[in-house]
Amino acid sequence: MIVLGIESTAHTFGIGIFDSEKNKILSNVKHMFKPPLGIGMLPREASEHHYKICDKILKEALNEARIKPQDIDLISFAQGPGLGACLRIGASVARFLSLELKKPLVGVNHCIAHLEVAKITTPAKDPIMLYVSGGNTQIIAFDEGKYRVFGETQDIPVGNLFDVFARNAGLPMPGGPVIEKLALKGRKYLSLPYAVKGMDVSFSGILTSATKMLQKEKLNDICFSLQETAFSMLVEVSERAMAHCNKKELVLAGGVAANKRLREMCKIMCKERGAKFFVPEFQYCCDNGAMIAVLGAIEYDAGVETKIKESKIKTKWRTNEVEVKWV
Ligand code: AMP
Ligand code: MG
Repeated sequence: MIVLGIESTAHTFGIGIFDSEKNKILSNVKHMFKPPLGIGMLPREASEHHYKICDKILKEALNEARIKPQDIDLISFAQGPGLGACLRIGASVARFLSLELKKPLVGVNHCIAHLEVAKITTPAKDPIMLYVSGGNTQIIAFDEGKYRVFGETQDIPVGNLFDVFARNAGLPMPGGPVIEKLALKGRKYLSLPYAVKGMDVSFSGILTSATKMLQKEKLNDICFSLQETAFSMLVEVSERAMAHCNKKELVLAGGVAANKRLREMCKIMCKERGAKFFVPEFQYCCDNGAMIAVLGAIEYDAGVETKIKESKIKTKWRTNEVEVKWV
């Protein structure tokens, strides 16, 4: 089965094509909306970007996969969670293609797609996933019939912590990579609010404290401390989730997975517990259409189909609300 997957939950518009018989991703094309310098995410402008670029991305994805529209057997799209204005573009393109090509439609959950693509592109079979991006921070695993959230941020996502701090410090966007570079030159650990509450984390106190420090401390040291504190919190909760669920694998996903220090800390934790650690190839770590195609294929195989009238976007679709028929 050839599946075309559409991602448009936030700033990325992506289309990926997956051949489920060969278990092979044939193409994965995407383009990201970049807000003007000094400004955060703009949902309406991002959705305009998606609307303008969708045609081009579709053509490129088909070309790269060397297939024609008629070769497609199934259309899948990210139905949520995400920004309404952005999700609507992907859903509209998906409905159009489904009607035009007379092929079935499957709306999938974006967060679970991150986990399922990791199972296709790494040796992980039943992992805990630490999913860290600009819009999400969750620790997810399959447990007792469902994908469950074992820990998450109570306020801002960790990628957003980096981006907003960078903006406050006058650094270019996205903040994460710039902070990572500066952190390498940091020498002094400055105490920041380490906020682990049960299995959840909170980053807004770190953001306020780190921003205040800009007046008197060295930027390199603040960046170093920001990373050390935020990542320690995430690794602590991930480790506890692994122990609780008795899982022996950790997968890191989301845009923040690019960070070498976070990878190193996860690796050390896994080594100490005799567990395995995997990071998918980066194109499958950040938001992408291939992961939506992969989950679409899995769900359709298990008998899931989304009729047009059920294809309304779900901006707040929680991971644990998804009925899992395929595991
Ligand atoms: P996503 O939302 O998955 O597209 O990922 C984007 C987020 O990842 C932004 O918040 C970036 O600041 C963050 N990010 C990207 N590269 C890095 C990095 N090397 N270290 C930390 N955060 C990063
Ligand atoms: Mg994502």
